[in-house]
Amino acid sequence: MSTDMRYVEIIGAGLAGCEAAWQCVRHGVPVRLHEMKPEKTTPAHRYPGFAELVCSNSLRSGQIFNAIGLLKAELTRAHSLIMEAAYANEVPAGAALAVDRKGFSDYITDKIRSHPLITVIEEEVTQIPTDTETVTVVATGPLTTDTLSRDIMRLTGADYLHFYDAAAPIVDAASVDRSIAWEASRYDKGEAAYLNCPMTKEEYLAFYEALVSAKEAPLHAFDLPDGSEEGKLTVFEGCMPVEVMARRGVDTLLYGPLKPVGLPDPRTGREPYAVVQLRQENTEKTMYNLVGFQTHLTWDEQRRVFGMIPGLAQAEFLRYGVMHRNTFMNSPKLLSADYSMRTRPSLFFAGQMTGVEGYIESTGSGYIAGVNAARRVLGLDPLYFPRETVLGAMAAYISDARVTDFQPMNANFGLMPQLSQKVRGGKRGRNDAFAVRALEAIDKMLADGLLAGAQQT
Ligand SMILES: Cc1cc2nc3c(=O)[nH]c(=O)nc-3n(C[C@H](O)[C@H](O)[C@H](O)COP(=O)(O)OP(=O)(O)OC[C@H]3O[C@@H](n4cnc5c(N)ncnc54)[C@H](O)[C@@H]3O)c2cc1C
Repeated sequence: MSTDMRYVEIIGAGLAGCEAAWQCVRHGVPVRLHEMKPEKTTPAHRYPGFAELVCSNSLRSGQIFNAIGLLKAELTRAHSLIMEAAYANEVPAGAALAVDRKGFSDYITDKIRSHPLITVIEEEVTQIPTDTETVTVVATGPLTTDTLSRDIMRLTGADYLHFYDAAAPIVDAASVDRSIAWEASRYDKGEAAYLNCPMTKEEYLAFYEALVSAKEAPLHAFDLPDGSEEGKLTVFEGCMPVEVMARRGVDTLLYGPLKPVGLPDPRTGREPYAVVQLRQENTEKTMYNLVGFQTHLTWDEQRRVFGMIPGLAQAEFLRYGVMHRNTFMNSPKLLSADYSMRTRPSLFFAGQMTGVEGYIESTGSGYIAGVNAARRVLGLDPLYFPRETVLGAMAAYISDARVTDFQPMNANFGLMPQLSQKVRGGKRGRNDAFAVRALEAIDKMLADGLLAGAQQT
């Protein structure tokens, strides 16, 4: 690898790596972009081009009253290459933005390969540059190769790199029906840290039947954790999907995540037949996760079956439960909000491996890491994005040192500071106000010259 400090070394030409490279060259900073394709591919990548969409061709909602749509609008205004490619290759998909995946990848590959400041090096990188002065962005994604993963682990410490994501769904606190769910901790110990959703016997049995027969997401071989039998999801007890636990017997959940002991319903004074507990996810109490509900059900089924839980009929899912192979760091312990490593500020990480989840979220982290890697080469201070933007809110989430049980996260409004004034129009009015506030902040950064590089592409 080059030790020429006027370059930024970027490892991985996925969504995050390509966006990071583009933002560097927009700042006039040359890039050496290392990508192992086409010689070697991860188990999910097949196409030789860069920024390959490994699964769906949908980039999800295009509407700004939805957090992922707003993130797209922020990136579009801020001259993101990935968004430029998406709109140039859009295919009809209703309210979502979907793309022709080949055209999308070809567009980005061509822009990157033909840019005079970008040198593409086709090789597998097995080690992070040892020279701590070299500004480097690591963006090798959820399926980072084993050798490089081991080297990252050497840098971060073994406890700070995870290879498997088994997460329960997270719901918007404002969408939980408080006339049914109440705040309390079991046996009233400590502060009232949970929202409790009670079930009668009939409600429990109906929920149980729906759960054990619900449709699971398809299982890829590489999604299986180490030690699994072929074609079978084998996870350690603490991570067992709730639907698998339920299949052990009709009462199993009543002694596990749905046990009602020590949780009398304040409306009746008695313990319900079963209780689902929701645990606070952030200090602002805007997001709650369903305790013990890590799941492999499809997203539609999660909405249908978990919507049967009393209090969650109208729940808005900010993140669905997932169980899949996912290399991600314990970023709150390691990274700053510019995606650089606290103990080595010339080393940036970007994309899904930082604990953002999704195509556009990965792009967003690549954007911030790219801008900041370039600024570091140029001798400028780090640029932290305001938390009022989805870009900044996600960066704040992955670098929040107070987070103890870090889970990867999709873009959502629960991450953003609440509005200072009440707005009319219910949830839609609130989300519109979030969008106006975020886009004003991005426009201000643009007007202040913070997002336009010395050299335009
Ligand atoms: C199977 C699967 C399906 C997914 N489906 C969706 C979905 O439908 N929607 C969604 O929003 N998100 C999805 N995700 C999550 C995530 O958004 C995508 O993985 C996204 O592509 C992440 O972007 P990235 O830039 O971080 O990584 P990637 O896009 O994976 O890019 C990483 C790049 O680094 C390269 N690389 C890896 N190791 C090395 C190395 N050692 N040296 C050199 N190059 C290396 C890879 O070849 C790749 O080109 C999915 C993830 C997986 C694994």
